[in-house]
Amino acid sequence: MIKVDNLSKRFGGFYAVNGATLNIATGSITGLIGPNGAGKTTLFNVIAGVHAPTGGTVMLDGEDITGLPPHTLFHKGLLRTFQIAHEFSTMTVRENLMMVPGDQAGERLWDAWFKPNLVRAEELELRKKADEVIEFLEISHVADELAGNLSGGQKKLLELGRTMMVDAKIVFLDEVGAGVNRTLLNTIGDAILRLNQERGYTFCMIEHDMNFIGRLCDPVICMAEGAVLAEGTIDEIKANEHVIEAYLGT
Ligand code: ADP
Repeated sequence: MIKVDNLSKRFGGFYAVNGATLNIATGSITGLIGPNGAGKTTLFNVIAGVHAPTGGTVMLDGEDITGLPPHTLFHKGLLRTFQIAHEFSTMTVRENLMMVPGDQAGERLWDAWFKPNLVRAEELELRKKADEVIEFLEISHVADELAGNLSGGQKKLLELGRTMMVDAKIVFLDEVGAGVNRTLLNTIGDAILRLNQERGYTFCMIEHDMNFIGRLCDPVICMAEGAVLAEGTIDEIKANEHVIEAYLGT
């Protein structure tokens, strides 16, 4: 689904990503690991259109998407999760979900004025969709809770839920497991597996927890110094001497 070829991103005189080449297969849950500073987040941000690359290409299903802005990629089904922004913390979980899809009639004053029935119908449709997502993620008990009052793990579930409000093809997850307790980590893992198996989502995820990666990801790609160091199953990666060296070197 994704082909990254010789991608680089320079900040000043420093290459955070330096000739990264990798593929993400349709239907996979690909793990991205590597020591701190390896360039994982920068790679995500370049693929997801947050940063323009210094060089190289990114293809999505055979289409060159290099350097396209996030909202264009969003409409092509390529999403990156973001932490729930401060301004959304005073909205409920359901409202947060209903905010996601763009181009709603309700956003246009003209339509709200002249086509109130259309706006109401769209809002009902959105609410139904949000409730489906809430049910899928088993967070009904916090549906009317303000997002700011959620635990760290529940916020991560909400981040995942936001990707379900649109027809995502591939979702980039940046450390959804970080700082989350075991129980919620399992819930998040279950949700990712179900989205992959039942909805056909492809995932690429940066993660540090090796157990979590082992449960979900195949293949696992290890980055170091801005490039891909190794790719394989979690067991192959754990046994790879270059990978061990890269981790020990930090
Ligand atoms: P990782 O996610 O693997 O920890 P990052 O992509 O966050 O790695 O960072 C890779 C390197 O690029 C680090 O040395 C970091 O300091 C540097 N870097 C990341 N973003 C910027 C930026 N906006 N400006 C300057 N340097 C950056």
